[in-house]
Amino acid sequence: MKRYLKVGDRCKQCDTPRVDISHETLLEIQRELHPSIKSIPASVLAKGREVYAICPCCDLYALGMDLETGYPFTEVDGQTTTIHELTSRPEWRW
Ligand SMILES: [Zn+2]
Repeated sequence: MKRYLKVGDRCKQCDTPRVDISHETLLEIQRELHPSIKSIPASVLAKGREVYAICPCCDLYALGMDLETGYPFTEVDGQTTTIHELTSRPEWRW
């Protein structure tokens, strides 16, 4: 079985380290934004996990980039942040 990417692993598409988003938050996102989640395979979503490692770059809009307040997610160091804080850092690459 293929190992699913975990938090901190670099995204294969864009090389951004992944962040963890809780199942509850993800449900909220799907309810409110109906986004297509690009960086989590549908098979993984269908299984249902407590947390998902999502790519904050590929799924920028799903994480609330267009909203006033983005959805909370956890970085590899355990810090909770939002997409706005993450993208305002100098090391963020577009
Ligand atoms: Zn990515």
